[in-house]
Amino acid sequence: MFDVHLSLVDLRRLCDAQQEMQGHISLAKLPGSCSYMQSDAGAAWVWLKFQRSHDSHLVITGQINADGLQMVCQRCLNLVTLPLKTTVNLIVLGPQQQIDQLSVEYDPWVISGKRMKLIELIDHELMLNLPIIAVHPNCEIQTKYGDRKQQIDSNANPFGRLAQLLPKN
Ligand SMILES: [Zn+2]
Repeated sequence: MFDVHLSLVDLRRLCDAQQEMQGHISLAKLPGSCSYMQSDAGAAWVWLKFQRSHDSHLVITGQINADGLQMVCQRCLNLVTLPLKTTVNLIVLGPQQQIDQLSVEYDPWVISGKRMKLIELIDHELMLNLPIIAVHPNCEIQTKYGDRKQQIDSNANPFGRLAQLLPKN
């Protein structure tokens, strides 16, 4: 379980030892992400790898696979339960370090001290990758006029009508 690692960790030590961690975490433990969701149901599997970059910066890579995120579908306004896969690719910076000198292959993660809570990192990464607009994969809007078929037809070829207006050579 990831709960073992929820206390403050020494990143330098983890990176020097090239540690790896994995485990499950309940989404209810991630308050930032939950503030964008309809409930704190669901869980995530987290895998993190700690190492040094070639220029000896602290680097954290890994994967967060969440399942059971509950959001509101922006098409039908009903609840939608979504999975979310996120790749972690972070370079750890102190508050004084410049971002522009760093390799573009990593996202900057600024911390104030040597130690941090991994749960904050997990929460932050998940929050950044939440869908801005959540929709059901095959959302069917039920309008009172029953015009769903018409909507699908006009979506099928948005340029269909435009083509009729263009001069033909
Ligand atoms: Zn929907």
